[in-house]
Amino acid sequence: MKPIALFRNAAVTLVATFALFTTTHAAAPMVKSSAPGYYRVMLGDFEITAISDGVFPAPMDKLLVGIKPADLDKALKKHHLTLPVDTSVNAYLINTGTKLVMVDSGAGSNMGPAAGRLLANIKASGYAPEQIDEIYITHMHGDHIGGLSALGAAVFPNAVVRADKLDADYWLSQANMDKAPPDGKGGFEHAITAFQPYIAAGKFKPFEGNTDLIPGVKAVAAHGHTPGHTTYLVESKGQKLILWGDLMHLAAVQFEQPSVALKFDSDNKAAIAEREKAYAMAAKEGYMIGSAHLSFPGLGYLRTEGRGYAWIPVNYVYIP
Ligand SMILES: [Zn+2]
Repeated sequence: MKPIALFRNAAVTLVATFALFTTTHAAAPMVKSSAPGYYRVMLGDFEITAISDGVFPAPMDKLLVGIKPADLDKALKKHHLTLPVDTSVNAYLINTGTKLVMVDSGAGSNMGPAAGRLLANIKASGYAPEQIDEIYITHMHGDHIGGLSALGAAVFPNAVVRADKLDADYWLSQANMDKAPPDGKGGFEHAITAFQPYIAAGKFKPFEGNTDLIPGVKAVAAHGHTPGHTTYLVESKGQKLILWGDLMHLAAVQFEQPSVALKFDSDNKAAIAEREKAYAMAAKEGYMIGSAHLSFPGLGYLRTEGRGYAWIPVNYVYIP
């Protein structure tokens, strides 16, 4: 064989070997989906399960009130965030041993494709929607009530749903929807649609202000973000968890500056006052906080820092 032919043969072998090598060792395709979103902690004798509904992209530059654009830019950079900010939507299950309670119900189809995962994550966490006895709603915005019903039917067929009467009177009113401007009607529509199956079945039971709901869980009024916005205080064996709903929205800004408010607050001043009161109490008492829009699981503690506050996420625990 001539040297040139030898070289050609060697080259062919090399190419074939290389082809074999690349096909047998191809990179695995990217999976590109997240783990099921649930996280469990104990609170005294109660089992708390944070359930992720996913996230939605929040244009915080258009939603926050009372902060200069340059200051918002600075805060976002400091926290490695970009606009629109992926904003968690969290709900919480409380198993008291005698009742299974859920606080808020996610966005359903109201907030885009990266939200609305509540039901899948409840199932992944080991519960079935039929097992939920009570649902406590912090307020009737679409990202907290959208998961209650689907295609006109109750997603939680055995649950009694409860919320403050002031929110019910406001958001479930056809008259209020009729007089709202065209871009404001959606909020009323979301509420009426979500609650309709429960109202029809006699399973919506509003309460008025601070109310003991079941042993270990009480409603604590924090009106301002909406007319009947409510937080829920959970207590077992002296351990406390307060579920904040929408007392705050953006950790990167509103812990350092509680006076920054949200365009969607029904009453900015009242919302700010409730936020400041809740922060001061949480920092002083040291109890656990669960918040609807803090990065999932949204559980942690608050301490004072400078003129504002700092957030301490819970330490990861694994329950085998
Ligand atoms: Zn919200």
